[in-house]
Amino acid sequence: FYATSIKKERSRISRHGFLFVFRDRTEEQKMDQVKDELISTVSHELRTPLSSILGYLELLRYRQLTPEKTQRYVEIMHEEAKRLTTLLNEFLDIQRMEGGKQPYDFKSFSLRQLLLDTTDAFGETAETHHIVLDVKEDPVMIVADENKIKQVVLNLLSNAIKYSPFADHVTVSLHTQGEQAIITVTDHGLGIPQNAFDKLFTKFYRVDNSAVRKIGGTGLGLAICKEIIESHGGAISVESELHQGSTFTVVLDLDSRKDYAK
Ligand code: ADP
Repeated sequence: FYATSIKKERSRISRHGFLFVFRDRTEEQKMDQVKDELISTVSHELRTPLSSILGYLELLRYRQLTPEKTQRYVEIMHEEAKRLTTLLNEFLDIQRMEGGKQPYDFKSFSLRQLLLDTTDAFGETAETHHIVLDVKEDPVMIVADENKIKQVVLNLLSNAIKYSPFADHVTVSLHTQGEQAIITVTDHGLGIPQNAFDKLFTKFYRVDNSAVRKIGGTGLGLAICKEIIESHGGAISVESELHQGSTFTVVLDLDSRKDYAK
């Protein structure tokens, strides 16, 4: 028990003059556990889309298919290939963050403009959902890594859509309060059980119910969001009611150096 409570390797001389070496395994064990989880998730999550792509490729290669079927199979393969790309990017992100090797490129920009651009581009591909924007304030300047903040917004948006199969709109809002900018992403989907709130932003965690299981995912997206937002000195949180929907809130400091920050 003592050995696991100390951080670095330490030596102690016992009353009888023996030298005992207590080696802290906690950090190492944690890293090993993270690696094990990564390997098992990577192999499981990569194998599924890859087998699917290979299966459809075999069909296209050896069978005479109708143009409709060919089109459908190509679309499925395209979706699966996109899933693979997301997965690989998420794994690489989390690896970099684990190793403290994530570079951030801070500069001042308008959060309003970022939300307009991001939701515009995303809205065009979101065939099933309408994205409602509630951003009245302008320009809402912050100092941050624009691409990373975009990644967070995209992640929250795609979750909102993914986990609301029976609702047709998602709302993104932006407002300021004091010296802070507040972004919310609200859906009217599956919702999240209260006992999952504190685990939601940890790596690999996915709510364990059949509705969520049917929807693919790695459980890394929100962990990445939290890491990014906290590296900016901000906060991310969730409010949700099962079967009613969820609201994710991101709070970031405004650019205090500019008069037009608000
Ligand atoms: P992934 O979506 O890849 O599983 P995330 O880290 O993005 O991973 O999310 C973790 C879990 O949180 C999801 O598996 C899901 O159970 C839950 N979740 C996230 N966003 C929502 C949402 N908008 N509505 C309901 N559940 C959500």
